[in-house]
Amino acid sequence: MKVGFIGLGQMGSGMALNLLGAGHEVTVYNRSAEKCEALREKGARVAARVAEACGGAAVFTMLADDAALEGVAFGEGGILRHLAAGAIHVASSTISVDLSRRLAEAHAKAGQAFVAAPVFGRPEAAAGRKLFVVAAGAEKAVAAVTPLLEAIGQRTFVVSDQPEMANLVKLSGNFLIASVIEALGEAMALAGKGGIDRHQYLEILTSTLFNVPLYKTYGGLIADRKFEPAGFAAPLGQKDVRLVLAAAETLRVPMPLASLLRDRFLTLLARGGDKLDWSAIGDLPRQDAGGNLG
Ligand code: NAP
Repeated sequence: MKVGFIGLGQMGSGMALNLLGAGHEVTVYNRSAEKCEALREKGARVAARVAEACGGAAVFTMLADDAALEGVAFGEGGILRHLAAGAIHVASSTISVDLSRRLAEAHAKAGQAFVAAPVFGRPEAAAGRKLFVVAAGAEKAVAAVTPLLEAIGQRTFVVSDQPEMANLVKLSGNFLIASVIEALGEAMALAGKGGIDRHQYLEILTSTLFNVPLYKTYGGLIADRKFEPAGFAAPLGQKDVRLVLAAAETLRVPMPLASLLRDRFLTLLARGGDKLDWSAIGDLPRQDAGGNLG
């Protein structure tokens, strides 16, 4: 399939490579042009403008946040203006429920289709085609892009014909991950200050009741205090908690834990954590307990 890919950050570059690897004809665009070179070497066409990435049957976006996606979607040089009638915008960024709904309406008005397809999995999973994709949109549009979604992930879950429902699922999932990071950080600070080795403690947890990838991945990062280089940067984590709270307010769902997480990310960023992985909030309990434990 002829497909465009906009946004070659930590996630997008691996996803675009896998689309190429699956035999699709891919045209890539990135704001910072140098990130396109690795893709060019693997056979991608490189677009100098967003419009040039919109000539196929579908265009993916994998951008940082709402502002970035609004910037490339709307306006004279944007996706809505240049995508052909009947073509499909597949939005994989973690964006707000509200923007997803607005994009769906705008694409429908322009005679195009919109599929929200946010993903679970870190950059290693994106590179290794191991993402879990949560997709939503009109049945025909989702069916048309299914081969593309299969090329970037290990499994696709179709949750609704309303695109923004995929974003709601993704945001609630990230809320859960951040909650686990905070809880692990607190438990490890407690055990560590008591004199227990953090790595042994984690091994006990993850080989018994918490034998799940999430606890292993994030528990390992917290135990090693390995927050750089960031696989998922703290400002993006903060963005997700903000979007969770916005969705919760709209739906009138009190989420006291999400409010707490909002403050944890603010603390991390106030202490200069912009370049750290979001799992660095899991080190705050150790710091609050006096630092250097376990
Ligand atoms: P990233 O490495 O920071 O990449 C962000 C991308 O957005 C880059 O291509 C960047 O372009 C582009 N961008 C940012 N602001 C822009 C703007 N104003 N105009 C145009 N382009 C702009 O982020 P990432 O980790 O790949 O994450 C991308 C999305 O996936 C986010 O929504 C994130 O929440 C979500 N996500 C991330 C992970 C993860 O583990 N990393 C997992 C699942 C979902 P430049 O190269 O020019 O800066």
